[in-house]
Amino acid sequence: MSVKAEHIDAALKPSGGTGNGVRQVVPVIQYHMIDRPTPASQVRGGFTPPERFAKQMAYLKTHGYEFLTASELIEFYIGEGCFPARGIAITFDDGCRDAYTNAFPVLRDLEIKATMFIVPSCIGKTDSKTLAEGEPARPHLSRNEILEMSKSGIEFGSHTMNHRLLHKIPLRDVEYEVVESKRYLEDLLRKPCKTFAYPAGYYSEEVEHVVEAAGHICAFSTIYGPKNRIDLFALNRIEIFRRDRFLCQFAKRLERIQLT
Ligand SMILES: [Zn+2]
Repeated sequence: MSVKAEHIDAALKPSGGTGNGVRQVVPVIQYHMIDRPTPASQVRGGFTPPERFAKQMAYLKTHGYEFLTASELIEFYIGEGCFPARGIAITFDDGCRDAYTNAFPVLRDLEIKATMFIVPSCIGKTDSKTLAEGEPARPHLSRNEILEMSKSGIEFGSHTMNHRLLHKIPLRDVEYEVVESKRYLEDLLRKPCKTFAYPAGYYSEEVEHVVEAAGHICAFSTIYGPKNRIDLFALNRIEIFRRDRFLCQFAKRLERIQLT
Protein backbone atom coordinates (compact mmCIF):
# COMPACT_ATOMS: atom_id res chain seq x y z
CA MET A 1 0.00 0.00 0.00
CA SER A 2 1.52 3.31 -0.99
CA VAL A 3 1.04 6.66 0.67
CA LYS A 4 -0.48 9.12 -1.74
CA ALA A 5 0.86 12.62 -2.12
CA GLU A 6 -2.61 14.21 -2.09
CA HIS A 7 -2.96 13.23 1.52
CA ILE A 8 -0.32 15.73 2.50
CA ASP A 9 -2.55 18.80 2.22
CA ALA A 10 -5.05 17.36 4.63
CA ALA A 11 -2.22 16.71 7.06
CA LEU A 12 -1.38 20.39 7.14
CA LYS A 13 -4.37 21.44 9.18
CA PRO A 14 -3.70 23.57 12.23
CA SER A 15 -2.52 21.52 15.14
CA GLY A 16 -3.05 24.08 17.87
CA GLY A 17 0.20 25.04 19.40
CA THR A 18 3.07 24.25 17.09
CA GLY A 19 2.76 27.51 15.19
CA ASN A 20 3.85 26.10 11.84
CA GLY A 21 0.50 24.66 10.80
CA VAL A 22 1.80 21.10 10.62
CA ARG A 23 -0.06 18.61 12.70
CA GLN A 24 2.35 17.35 15.32
CA VAL A 25 0.51 14.39 16.74
CA VAL A 26 2.12 11.06 16.12
CA PRO A 27 -0.51 8.68 14.64
CA VAL A 28 0.79 5.54 16.31
CA ILE A 29 -1.14 3.31 18.65
CA GLN A 30 0.42 0.92 21.10
CA TYR A 31 -0.74 -2.41 22.42
CA HIS A 32 0.98 -4.76 24.82
CA MET A 33 -0.82 -8.09 25.07
CA ILE A 34 -3.80 -9.24 23.03
CA ASP A 35 -5.10 -11.70 25.55
CA ARG A 36 -7.01 -12.06 28.80
CA PRO A 37 -5.01 -11.73 32.00
CA THR A 38 -4.42 -14.98 33.85
CA PRO A 39 -5.83 -15.21 37.40
CA ALA A 40 -2.29 -14.65 38.73
CA SER A 41 -1.85 -11.35 36.85
CA GLN A 42 -1.86 -8.33 39.14
CA VAL A 43 -1.12 -5.72 36.48
CA ARG A 44 -3.96 -6.07 34.01
CA GLY A 45 -4.02 -2.75 32.17
CA GLY A 46 -1.87 -3.98 29.27
CA PHE A 47 -4.22 -6.80 28.27
CA THR A 48 -6.66 -6.24 25.41
CA PRO A 49 -9.02 -9.21 24.94
CA PRO A 50 -8.72 -10.73 21.43
CA GLU A 51 -12.33 -10.12 20.36
CA ARG A 52 -12.08 -6.49 21.45
CA PHE A 53 -8.86 -6.10 19.48
CA ALA A 54 -10.59 -7.55 16.39
CA LYS A 55 -13.39 -4.98 16.74
CA GLN A 56 -10.89 -2.15 17.13
CA MET A 57 -9.02 -3.18 13.98
CA ALA A 58 -12.30 -3.53 12.05
CA TYR A 59 -13.24 -0.04 13.23
CA LEU A 60 -10.02 1.42 11.84
CA LYS A 61 -10.46 -0.45 8.59
CA THR A 62 -14.04 0.74 8.04
CA HIS A 63 -13.11 4.32 8.96
CA GLY A 64 -10.63 4.56 6.12
CA TYR A 65 -7.34 4.56 7.96
CA GLU A 66 -4.26 3.80 5.91
CA PHE A 67 -1.98 1.37 7.67
CA LEU A 68 1.76 1.84 7.54
CA THR A 69 4.58 0.16 9.37
CA ALA A 70 6.29 2.40 11.91
CA SER A 71 9.28 2.89 9.61
CA GLU A 72 7.07 3.72 6.60
CA LEU A 73 5.22 6.30 8.67
CA ILE A 74 8.41 7.92 9.94
CA GLU A 75 10.08 7.84 6.53
CA PHE A 76 7.03 9.67 5.16
CA TYR A 77 7.39 12.25 7.94
CA ILE A 78 11.11 12.68 7.27
CA GLY A 79 10.41 13.21 3.55
CA GLU A 80 7.33 15.42 3.78
CA GLY A 81 7.54 17.12 7.18
CA CYS A 82 4.11 15.82 8.19
CA PHE A 83 2.21 12.59 8.64
CA PRO A 84 -0.12 11.23 5.94
CA ALA A 85 -3.67 12.37 6.65
CA ARG A 86 -5.23 8.94 7.12
CA GLY A 87 -2.01 7.17 8.02
CA ILE A 88 -1.74 5.16 11.20
CA ALA A 89 0.78 2.68 12.58
CA ILE A 90 -0.25 -0.13 14.91
CA THR A 91 2.49 -1.23 17.29
CA PHE A 92 2.88 -4.00 19.85
CA ASP A 93 5.52 -4.05 22.56
CA ASP A 94 7.32 -7.02 24.12
CA GLY A 95 6.77 -9.82 21.59
CA CYS A 96 4.71 -12.15 23.71
CA ARG A 97 3.35 -15.14 21.84
CA ASP A 98 -0.22 -13.79 21.81
CA ALA A 99 1.02 -11.37 19.12
CA TYR A 100 1.14 -14.42 16.85
CA THR A 101 -1.79 -16.46 18.17
CA ASN A 102 -4.28 -13.62 18.79
CA ALA A 103 -3.19 -10.46 16.96
CA PHE A 104 -1.62 -11.76 13.75
CA PRO A 105 -4.71 -13.65 12.43
CA VAL A 106 -6.75 -10.44 12.70
CA LEU A 107 -4.05 -8.31 11.08
CA ARG A 108 -3.57 -10.82 8.26
CA ASP A 109 -7.31 -11.16 7.57
CA LEU A 110 -7.85 -7.40 7.46
CA GLU A 111 -4.55 -6.78 5.61
CA ILE A 112 -3.32 -4.46 8.32
CA LYS A 113 0.38 -3.73 8.48
CA ALA A 114 1.83 -3.51 11.95
CA THR A 115 5.09 -3.25 13.86
CA MET A 116 6.18 -5.41 16.77
CA PHE A 117 8.95 -4.36 19.15
CA ILE A 118 10.63 -7.46 20.51
CA VAL A 119 13.27 -8.51 23.03
CA PRO A 120 15.70 -10.99 21.43
CA SER A 121 16.79 -12.66 24.69
CA CYS A 122 13.15 -13.75 25.23
CA ILE A 123 12.62 -15.29 21.80
CA GLY A 124 11.26 -18.85 22.10
CA LYS A 125 11.21 -18.69 25.90
CA THR A 126 8.71 -18.24 28.70
CA ASP A 127 9.95 -15.22 30.58
CA SER A 128 8.82 -12.41 32.85
CA LYS A 129 11.51 -9.90 31.83
CA THR A 130 9.11 -7.66 29.93
CA LEU A 131 6.54 -7.56 32.74
CA ALA A 132 6.19 -5.70 36.01
CA GLU A 133 7.93 -7.32 38.96
CA GLY A 134 6.12 -10.35 40.33
CA GLU A 135 3.97 -10.94 37.24
CA PRO A 136 3.79 -14.53 35.95
CA ALA A 137 6.13 -15.36 33.04
CA ARG A 138 4.61 -15.44 29.55
CA PRO A 139 5.59 -17.35 26.41
CA HIS A 140 7.33 -15.25 23.77
CA LEU A 141 7.38 -15.46 19.99
CA SER A 142 9.59 -18.12 18.45
CA ARG A 143 12.05 -17.45 15.64
CA ASN A 144 9.76 -19.26 13.18
CA GLU A 145 6.71 -17.24 14.21
CA ILE A 146 8.70 -14.03 13.78
CA LEU A 147 9.94 -15.14 10.36
CA GLU A 148 6.43 -16.09 9.23
CA MET A 149 5.00 -12.74 10.31
CA SER A 150 7.90 -10.86 8.73
CA LYS A 151 7.07 -12.52 5.40
CA SER A 152 3.46 -11.33 5.80
CA GLY A 153 4.37 -7.67 6.17
CA ILE A 154 4.81 -7.34 9.92
CA GLU A 155 7.76 -5.12 10.77
CA PHE A 156 9.98 -5.95 13.71
CA GLY A 157 11.72 -3.29 15.73
CA SER A 158 14.06 -3.48 18.67
CA HIS A 159 12.89 -3.29 22.27
CA THR A 160 16.44 -3.95 23.58
CA MET A 161 18.11 -7.30 24.31
CA ASN A 162 16.82 -7.68 27.88
CA HIS A 163 14.11 -5.06 28.43
CA ARG A 164 16.27 -3.16 30.89
CA LEU A 165 15.22 0.38 31.83
CA LEU A 166 17.74 2.35 29.83
CA HIS A 167 17.75 5.54 31.90
CA LYS A 168 18.97 3.53 34.91
CA ILE A 169 21.93 1.58 33.54
CA PRO A 170 25.50 2.56 32.54
CA LEU A 171 25.93 3.90 29.02
CA ARG A 172 28.10 0.90 28.10
CA ASP A 173 25.17 -1.39 28.93
CA VAL A 174 22.78 0.85 27.00
CA GLU A 175 25.03 0.45 23.96
CA TYR A 176 24.99 -3.33 24.30
CA GLU A 177 21.20 -3.47 24.72
CA VAL A 178 20.60 -1.24 21.70
CA VAL A 179 23.30 -2.34 19.26
CA GLU A 180 23.09 -6.07 19.96
CA SER A 181 19.31 -6.30 19.62
CA LYS A 182 19.42 -4.47 16.27
CA ARG A 183 22.17 -6.79 15.05
CA TYR A 184 20.26 -9.88 16.22
CA LEU A 185 17.07 -8.89 14.42
CA GLU A 186 18.88 -8.00 11.22
CA ASP A 187 20.67 -11.37 11.25
CA LEU A 188 17.40 -13.19 11.81
CA LEU A 189 15.22 -11.27 9.36
CA ARG A 190 17.76 -10.23 6.72
CA LYS A 191 16.10 -6.80 6.75
CA PRO A 192 17.25 -3.54 8.31
CA CYS A 193 15.93 -2.97 11.83
CA LYS A 194 14.98 0.71 11.58
CA THR A 195 12.75 1.29 14.57
CA PHE A 196 13.13 1.10 18.33
CA ALA A 197 10.89 1.31 21.40
CA TYR A 198 12.18 2.16 24.88
CA PRO A 199 11.32 -0.45 27.54
CA ALA A 200 8.49 1.06 29.63
CA GLY A 201 8.99 4.26 27.63
CA TYR A 202 11.99 5.51 29.64
CA TYR A 203 14.94 7.25 28.04
CA SER A 204 17.40 10.07 28.58
CA GLU A 205 19.20 12.38 26.18
CA GLU A 206 22.26 10.07 26.23
CA VAL A 207 20.07 7.06 25.51
CA GLU A 208 18.46 8.87 22.55
CA HIS A 209 21.93 9.49 21.11
CA VAL A 210 22.89 5.82 21.41
CA VAL A 211 19.69 4.71 19.64
CA GLU A 212 20.27 7.21 16.83
CA ALA A 213 23.98 6.39 16.47
CA ALA A 214 23.14 2.68 16.16
CA GLY A 215 21.33 3.51 12.90
CA HIS A 216 17.65 3.55 13.85
CA ILE A 217 15.47 6.21 12.20
CA CYS A 218 13.25 6.75 15.23
CA ALA A 219 12.44 5.61 18.76
CA PHE A 220 9.09 5.37 20.50
CA SER A 221 8.29 6.23 24.05
CA THR A 222 4.77 6.53 25.35
CA ILE A 223 3.58 9.50 27.32
CA TYR A 224 7.10 10.69 28.12
CA GLY A 225 7.88 12.26 24.74
CA PRO A 226 7.63 16.03 24.22
CA LYS A 227 4.04 17.22 23.79
CA ASN A 228 4.41 20.11 21.37
CA ARG A 229 7.08 19.09 18.95
CA ILE A 230 8.25 15.98 17.20
CA ASP A 231 11.47 14.44 18.46
CA LEU A 232 12.07 11.43 16.23
CA PHE A 233 13.89 9.70 19.09
CA ALA A 234 11.19 10.34 21.68
CA LEU A 235 7.92 9.79 19.86
CA ASN A 236 4.72 9.53 21.84
CA ARG A 237 2.19 6.84 21.15
CA ILE A 238 -1.47 6.41 22.04
CA GLU A 239 -1.64 3.48 24.42
CA ILE A 240 -4.70 1.26 24.29
CA PHE A 241 -5.61 -0.16 27.68
CA ARG A 242 -7.86 -2.84 29.02
CA ARG A 243 -10.13 -0.09 30.34
CA ASP A 244 -10.82 1.04 26.74
CA ARG A 245 -13.65 -1.38 26.76
CA PHE A 246 -16.15 0.01 24.31
CA LEU A 247 -15.56 1.09 20.73
CA CYS A 248 -16.61 4.64 21.60
CA GLN A 249 -13.76 4.79 24.15
CA PHE A 250 -11.33 3.48 21.55
CA ALA A 251 -12.59 6.08 19.06
CA LYS A 252 -12.14 8.80 21.67
CA ARG A 253 -8.52 7.80 22.19
CA LEU A 254 -8.01 8.34 18.47
CA GLU A 255 -9.57 11.81 18.45
CA ARG A 256 -6.20 13.51 18.69
CA ILE A 257 -5.08 12.00 15.41
CA GLN A 258 -8.35 12.24 13.51
CA LEU A 259 -8.30 14.78 10.72
CA THR A 260 -11.70 14.52 9.17
ZN1 LIG B 1 8.10 -3.40 26.95
